[in-house]
Amino acid sequence: MGQGGIPYIGRFAPSPTGPLHAGSLVAALASWLDAQAHGGHWLVRIEDVDTPRGVPGADHLILQQLHACGLQPDAPPVWQSQRSALYQQALVQLIEQHQAYACLCSRKAIATALAALGQQRHRHGELVYPGTCRNAGHTGASLAWRLRTEAGTEASSEACTVHWQDRRLGAQQQDVGEEVGDFVLKRADGCFSYQLAVVVDDAAQGISHVVRGEDLADNTARQIVLQGALGLPTPYYLHTPLVRNAQGEKLSKQSGAKALDTREPLAALNAAARCLGLQPHSGHMGSALAAWVLQWRALYNPVP
Ligand code: GLU
Repeated sequence: MGQGGIPYIGRFAPSPTGPLHAGSLVAALASWLDAQAHGGHWLVRIEDVDTPRGVPGADHLILQQLHACGLQPDAPPVWQSQRSALYQQALVQLIEQHQAYACLCSRKAIATALAALGQQRHRHGELVYPGTCRNAGHTGASLAWRLRTEAGTEASSEACTVHWQDRRLGAQQQDVGEEVGDFVLKRADGCFSYQLAVVVDDAAQGISHVVRGEDLADNTARQIVLQGALGLPTPYYLHTPLVRNAQGEKLSKQSGAKALDTREPLAALNAAARCLGLQPHSGHMGSALAAWVLQWRALYNPVP
């Protein structure tokens, strides 16, 4: 049970852009341990909403790797590519509430508009959208859709700042309108954005606790804004430490992370456990997992 007696439902939500690596196993193990420590359910959701980036077969490979590591979901996995109707419904709700608008701008057009404003605004390589199409009232097919944030409205910036609590990182805040801008909900190529899909699915699956890698912490404020706009509850968040390579870069497929070798699952799990501050365990995989659940409870209790 989570706080206030709500049922605990957690999830691991890998994007099938390649097999699991040492970094993604940390998030998988942490979310599994947190669910066990709460006596809750643990789900796996394949986040293949960005179809052009997907690698065929990576989904099944990930599921096999989790299985080899003893991390078994409590219900059959779901695939985001089969859930577009839910995302479209949420987008329609936001359009009807006048909180989403169609955008025709290419990346180049956004860069040009920002240059004309004398602004160099970007965040993690993404340009902060200057709001060009906000009041244009575009209609038609093949349009991108953006969420109208509070930037540029009369609301004070304090009112637009999202405050949230991370169970590991502590108090966090972000002015989404100012720092991120009107973000994309659906791209012109028809793909729904990660932000929209993750918010809709976390609510539809009743996720009470999100445990995921720290590289995703920056998305949380955007997701809280979307939850508010759609009238959905906000789960508890815990962002786990990242695994870095010798150059100090976050392990990722782009930085050349190797696929997890699950012929030695305990070795892989021990490395992930160490990253989470848990004691390495020799012997049997099942007893290692059981020991880590107890240690997790001690480290993260009292937990919301
Ligand atoms: N699909 C995302 C990723 O693999 C994770 C999403 C999440 O946990 O919220 O990076």
